[in-house]
Amino acid sequence: QTSTAAPRARAEVDLAALRGNVRALRARVGGGAGLMAVVKSDAYGHGMVPVARAARAAGAGWLGTATPHEALALRAAGIDGRVMCWLWTPGDPWREGIEADLDIAVSGMWALREVTAAAREAGRPARIQLKADTGLGRNGCQPADWPELVGASLAAQAAGLVHVTGLWSHFACADEPGHPSIARQLDVFHGMLAYAEKEGVTPEVRHIANSPAALTLPESYFDLVRTGVAMYGLSPSPEIGVPADFGLRPVMTLAASVALVKGVPAGHGVSYGHRYVTPAETHLGLIPLGYADGIPRHASGRGPVLVGGVRRRVAGTVAMDQFVVDLGADTPEPGAEAILFGPGDRGEPTAEDWARAADTIAYEIVTRIGARVPRVYV
Ligand code: PLP
Repeated sequence: QTSTAAPRARAEVDLAALRGNVRALRARVGGGAGLMAVVKSDAYGHGMVPVARAARAAGAGWLGTATPHEALALRAAGIDGRVMCWLWTPGDPWREGIEADLDIAVSGMWALREVTAAAREAGRPARIQLKADTGLGRNGCQPADWPELVGASLAAQAAGLVHVTGLWSHFACADEPGHPSIARQLDVFHGMLAYAEKEGVTPEVRHIANSPAALTLPESYFDLVRTGVAMYGLSPSPEIGVPADFGLRPVMTLAASVALVKGVPAGHGVSYGHRYVTPAETHLGLIPLGYADGIPRHASGRGPVLVGGVRRRVAGTVAMDQFVVDLGADTPEPGAEAILFGPGDRGEPTAEDWARAADTIAYEIVTRIGARVPRVYV
């Protein structure tokens, strides 16, 4: 490979689009609520630190991660300001989290015990945000256990071990507008907020909205919305609409260089299992990306690819490192560009198209693009 050759594959990350999406989301939410840029899981595959910086530059007051390790990596990269992380496990680096000034989500009594013990060791209070399970049935404190958690948190606050900076929750079905659980969760959230505030909690922020709620449900905004997928320019679900409906632009383009083009006769089996057999004499193009790179094997025979301006489909089975497209009469040079997904302006498929082809959601398509694919920031 010469220095001018295109790389095997690349994920272009358009940070100007990301900044535009943050601004569009802030405008939609209005002045009453802030925006938390959710940058967990390597910013849904886009690269955590560059995305965090771009989001901050576009006015995201908060950054959100799942694990404390992700949040500490932001700090290690020199990113200051408010950072919240919500997926704590026993034995996690609580003290480092406190010393790094993270906002620490607390979903139950075990976590409160660990965080207060670490605060005692650190000799300074932890910022904690109590998470309510208003109906998601995943992380968070059940309504029945809320009085105990609120009471113990207030006692820890009186002892100088914590500041309760937030009260928050997460939706189960916000991507299905009108789903009855949405209103139920909001009701439960209002009740749990009212209880905590009556007991004396004075939260700086109350929040429940994710991207689908930020796009469709103003009554869910409270003080902060936590947006992930919409910030990456993707729609949370087909029911919500397409990104352009909300002034959002897809941030990631996944492209590869065609690695080989060859003529084959009719009746030629293609890839493992011979699940595709050429219907006529044709040309096959080899795309050097596979399930190790996050191309879903479930999209075998279906995933769309733009080669030479023409939409093709994965022919046969996606292998670990490569898949094949049937190019018909076309014979692009090796090194020609194949675009798997992008904003769609050039006729290329979108991440939502791949999600449909793989029976999944666009979140999974971008997040699973593997570490072997370089991110190129444009
Ligand atoms: N808040 C929490 C707690 C999450 O786990 C996530 C991601 O799943 C988000 C917000 C962002 O969700 P979305 O990408 O739908 O905006």
